[in-house]
Amino acid sequence: MTLRGRLTTAFLVVVLGPVLLGSLFVAITVATVSRDRTAERLDHAATTVRTGVAATCLQLQAAADAVAVVPADDRADVAGQLVARGLATDIRIAETAPGPVGDTTTADDRRDCASPPDDVVNAPTSSLAARAVTGDLTITAVRSVDDAFLSRLRAAGGTDVTFTSTEQPAGERRLLLPQTGQPLALTLTVPPSTPSFLYVVLPAVVLVAALVAVLVARWLARSTTRPLGDLAWAADRVADGELDTRVPIPHPDELGRLAATFNRMTRELQAYVQALTASRDQLRGHLAILGETLSSTHDLQRILQVILRTALAATGARAGLVLLIDRPAGQLVAQCGIGLAGRWDVPESDLPQQRLPIGEGVLGAVAATGEPRRGRGGIASAEPPCRTYVAVPICAPGVPEEPGDPTFPETLGVLALYDRVGGDTFDDSDLSTLRTFAGQAGVAVSNVRLHEEAQRLSLTDPLTGLWNYRYLRESLRREVERASRFGRMLAVLVLDLDHFKDVNDTYGHAAGDAVLGEFARRIRIGLREVDVAFRQGGEEFVVLLPETDAYGGAIVAERLGAAVRDRPVTVEDAQIPISVSIGVAVYPEHGENSLQVLAAADRALYAAKKAGRDTYRLAEPTDVTKSGVSPGDHEGDFHPATAVPSAPRPPQHRRGR
Ligand code: GH3
Ligand code: MG
Ligand code: MG
Repeated sequence: MTLRGRLTTAFLVVVLGPVLLGSLFVAITVATVSRDRTAERLDHAATTVRTGVAATCLQLQAAADAVAVVPADDRADVAGQLVARGLATDIRIAETAPGPVGDTTTADDRRDCASPPDDVVNAPTSSLAARAVTGDLTITAVRSVDDAFLSRLRAAGGTDVTFTSTEQPAGERRLLLPQTGQPLALTLTVPPSTPSFLYVVLPAVVLVAALVAVLVARWLARSTTRPLGDLAWAADRVADGELDTRVPIPHPDELGRLAATFNRMTRELQAYVQALTASRDQLRGHLAILGETLSSTHDLQRILQVILRTALAATGARAGLVLLIDRPAGQLVAQCGIGLAGRWDVPESDLPQQRLPIGEGVLGAVAATGEPRRGRGGIASAEPPCRTYVAVPICAPGVPEEPGDPTFPETLGVLALYDRVGGDTFDDSDLSTLRTFAGQAGVAVSNVRLHEEAQRLSLTDPLTGLWNYRYLRESLRREVERASRFGRMLAVLVLDLDHFKDVNDTYGHAAGDAVLGEFARRIRIGLREVDVAFRQGGEEFVVLLPETDAYGGAIVAERLGAAVRDRPVTVEDAQIPISVSIGVAVYPEHGENSLQVLAAADRALYAAKKAGRDTYRLAEPTDVTKSGVSPGDHEGDFHPATAVPSAPRPPQHRRGR
């Protein structure tokens, strides 16, 4: 049975039940009252009729007595007067004799007031009679019991009065038996006072009430269940994912409130889903950027920044910090932070220099133990203050084993997030998510360090540890550009060991290598921090001296020559004396670009060799025009072997000999 059917039935039971019961009660009450009233009327009518008949008998008796007491001569006149006054219908005077006195009518239908019949006489009575005996005379006063008489009784009793022929049952009729003073057998009939129309109207009223009740019940049930039906329909649509579904609010009643609450709920749900979708899209965007960044750059700061930003988006944290371990210093060094402004008293610009000791505080403990931590507040004062935190180690890629296991991946740093949005503590899923990002950070750090190492190796000469020719080209171009931009000078020295072939031939190739390594070491220690030394190839080297003029370059050339010349190189037991020839050129004095300057230095070297070796020569400005190399010519194709030597010139500077 539907809700509407149940509501209709309930309403009908509630409404029609009392109506039917009430109707029944009214009908029974009306019937009872009606019966009682009829009985009362009959009682009243009986008393009245009996009194009326008795009064008539007394009147007849009085008339008979009055005629009896007057003189015999006046009796006829008196009787006539009494009849004329209506006290009797007739007064007869007759001699007392056996049988009925003065009876001029049929004795059968006359009733004597003084002697009523013992039984009900089944015949109408024509008259009443009362007698008075005086002497031998019997005076009989008679009253006709005709229709007029009966009419008066009816009027007095308020009932229909008829002669009784047979005994009638009690109820609406009442049998009036003869008795002393009332000799008539009468039947009193009260017209039925039962409002029979009530019995017609009442069912009609009940029927109409029932009809109205059914209609009202149907309307009520429909108006009650329709909003529920709407709600069920809307709930179905929402369940199917149509979150923009709304239901009408018919009235501000309970169902209206329910509909309003449903609408509010779906609105909230829709907003929540939209926020989730936006958050998912945002996270997708972050992940896309992360993937792109990881695959496209070796800028570690940028990678860590993107990883941190993605971790914040994925966990809903407000702030985060990435630190890497500086093993020699035993410290954690902050690399990047997000959302720390205003919460940590470390300015953003100072963040990269911020250092925390390993083993102290939450971050230090994570770095020392390699185990993640999470919790509420209570963080060491040196660390960013927070309400909640989660910190995980950034480990080098590898198969994770138990901490302490030699194969356990090395901890490279710490990734920490602070204050989850909503005030909740970070849960296991946050920790798991953060470990994923820390893993990516670990891979990124390892990759970047490997890349840096590979790059360093690709630009370094393995025998001497100096930068190689590749890096020389790049550095020379950069330094020339910088010198050009700031209007400074750049001195370029080209060094070539003298008769090195003889060293190889005399002491062997290995000894020659050792000599090259020692020569490189002496160059390094003879230079400033800003100077850079390169092995150009074979036993040729180049030194760049930023912000140095020809004079400064000559001093360095002299110093390096002396450093080689003064101390033979010891290889095993052999003391190998070596010397070096050096060509010096200065930008912009001897060339307008890196190639020209290097070519000028090369020519100066050639001049030094020509001058007898173990010396240096300064290039001449005129060398630029002589070389025939114009600015920008084949800058990338330069090779020292292709440098055009200048004509031999006498040494301009000769020191230390
Ligand atoms: P010069 O004074 O004119 O420069 O005479 P030199 O012998 O130094 O010049 P040359 O160019 O004739 O010889 C260079 C020698 O350097 C030839 C080569 O065997 C040697 N050499 C080049 N590279 C290496 C190296 O990596 N190790 C060793 N042991 N020898 C090298
Ligand atoms: Mg050489
Ligand atoms: Mg040489």
